[in-house]
Amino acid sequence: MNPLTSVENLPGVGKYYSYKLKKLGIETVEDLIYHFPFRYEDFSKLETIQDVTPGEKISIVGNVWQIKNIRTRFGKFITTATVADESGTCEVIWFNQPYLTKTIKAGTPISLSGKAEIEGQHLKLISPSFEILHSSKSPIPTDSETLHTGRLVPIYPETEGVSSKWLRARIKSLLPLYLDAQKDFVPEQITKRHQLEDLETALSQIHFPKSYEDVEKARKRLSFDELFQLQFMSIKRRRDWQQMRKSPQLAVDRTQLKALIDSLPFKLTTAQEKAVEQITNDFKRTIPSNRLLEGDVGSGKTVVAAIAAFFALSNDFDVLFAAPTEILAFQHQRTLEEILSPHGVTVGIWTGSRKVKGQLTCGTHALLTTFKPNRQVGLVIVDEQHRFGVAQRAKLFLDQSKKVTPHLLTMTATPIPRTLSLTLYGDLDLTILDEMPKGRQKISTFVVPNFKRADAYKFIEKQVKEGRQVFILTPFVEPSETMETVKAATEEFKKLKTKFSKGIKLGLLHGRLKSKEKEEIINKFKKNKIHVLVTTPVVEVGIDVPNANVMMIESAERFGLAQLHQLRGRVGRGEHKSYCLLFTPSKGENSVKRLKSMEKVHAGFELAEIDLNMRGPGETFGLKQSGFTSLKIADITDREMIVIAQTEAKKLIEEDPDLKNNKAFTEKLKRIENEYVQPN
Ligand code: ADP
Ligand code: MG
Repeated sequence: MNPLTSVENLPGVGKYYSYKLKKLGIETVEDLIYHFPFRYEDFSKLETIQDVTPGEKISIVGNVWQIKNIRTRFGKFITTATVADESGTCEVIWFNQPYLTKTIKAGTPISLSGKAEIEGQHLKLISPSFEILHSSKSPIPTDSETLHTGRLVPIYPETEGVSSKWLRARIKSLLPLYLDAQKDFVPEQITKRHQLEDLETALSQIHFPKSYEDVEKARKRLSFDELFQLQFMSIKRRRDWQQMRKSPQLAVDRTQLKALIDSLPFKLTTAQEKAVEQITNDFKRTIPSNRLLEGDVGSGKTVVAAIAAFFALSNDFDVLFAAPTEILAFQHQRTLEEILSPHGVTVGIWTGSRKVKGQLTCGTHALLTTFKPNRQVGLVIVDEQHRFGVAQRAKLFLDQSKKVTPHLLTMTATPIPRTLSLTLYGDLDLTILDEMPKGRQKISTFVVPNFKRADAYKFIEKQVKEGRQVFILTPFVEPSETMETVKAATEEFKKLKTKFSKGIKLGLLHGRLKSKEKEEIINKFKKNKIHVLVTTPVVEVGIDVPNANVMMIESAERFGLAQLHQLRGRVGRGEHKSYCLLFTPSKGENSVKRLKSMEKVHAGFELAEIDLNMRGPGETFGLKQSGFTSLKIADITDREMIVIAQTEAKKLIEEDPDLKNNKAFTEKLKRIENEYVQPN
């Protein structure tokens, strides 16, 4: 057996269970061992029958005196048993499990855990967990004997047909075998230095702890492991990358650069100037750069990217600009064409449906699969990279060029706090656009109670009559739209048509439309031939229509605040006073409070912080989509642990970069690296 052995080959699993386990993301022995409990049932209080306090969760150990099935008038079965220890007897009842009498027989030593009740003078246990003990010799079972009762019992994420009880038994028998195959991969000096458990202890105690203190210690060690692995991989990758690869030196003469900047219809913000400087400083070296440009919606990232692209283009290199959606790719193509074509640059587009090469080519992931550049690629720009998936990102810059490695610039509007980006993007340099262009207005935001819905439609109608345009966002948050969501959006669209008077033109835009249709609708909207655009979150990162001034969002509670902020950023792009109306069916105090913060807070960064506190990092940053699904236990906001992991990873890379002295870690990394770059 090895960690990658398929669970299908384990005794008691087979095809039947392996199929079910797959739903829990468990395919290998290692997956199963790393399927951690999310809580523990505290049945550790072992009592004698006479000392049991009613109402408490307790465990008792005794012998079955008698057991029988009774059939009720309605044809149901009740199993009743009497269990005795040296201090007294207790009645036990189970419902609808007549087969229990086949395994539990009179004379069987048994351990029971559950909530004790008193009926008359009698102690009663209703539907307790039970476990048959194999030795009746010792009155109190030793730890190795009970698994489901009489202890802190692990409760796992389950799926139909796979119970915690089942998982417990499998993991219990598997753990020693796994630990034979997987030696501790964290050097002892490190575990000693930070008082971390060894791997064996940690894994045993996360599943079968004797106390909550055990759980905490195990959690600490296993969290360290995850962060340490992640840090090691990203630091190593960056180091190898920088050592092995050479990027082109890109320089532009001052007059050329000035001509470009002077041709813009506005003056760059100081933040944009700084960003340009940082990015183009990277270009002076032959070390491949890898920089994340982070900035709120509307902070003007595209212009910065255009200037960066200009550096590569002026040096006769091609530039690729990848976007997560087709709409966005088209949008970028138009924007970049406006900025760069007066300076002699051709801007192409490369998507599933349209393929025109340029010196700069914008596109979707089709850029990764079907695109062959005409010249060397000197710079790759990736917009909204956390949506793109780590795997695709890796591929994007690995395959492009053998001789010359392009510089890499990624952009995101997700305001990731520095601590987090340290963990998530340890191999990136960070530039933050922390200033908005002058004259940006605040978008008046309201969480609208449902009884004012009709008023909201009236308000929208009034805005349209004054010449404005409106987005109505239907409540679908799936990253890829299913037929379900499309159907719902279509129905909402029909319903909405009846709400507005005749002269008001509605359009429907969703991700499943053919790109030609999409483009047509967007163009109509741009030309104000559509007044109200009913849409799914496909608009989030795309459309730039300065005349639109109302963003109405249904089921807003389903979105993260940072995401709502991005959606809100679709309006307020022109000179018109703009509004964001949030609707929610939810009456939950917390979710309304969360949404209300949109009324007061207008900085994406701050909103992300609020969400981080209220919902946790996974939800806030859509980490599931980002390829960091491998973080099972570590808290990516745990600054202290991140710093420890990072320091130790750096030290180890200095001492033993190729892990010549740590075969166990080499193998472990190989396995999780696979997981890490799998497309998601
Ligand atoms: P982001 O991608 O960061 O959300 P964009 O690059 O799309 O933002 O810019 C948003 C809008 O602001 C665009 O219409 C752009 O032309 C404009 N813009 C960018 N920089 C400035 C600036 N310095 N001053 C005024 N307007 C700007
Ligand atoms: Mg943008």
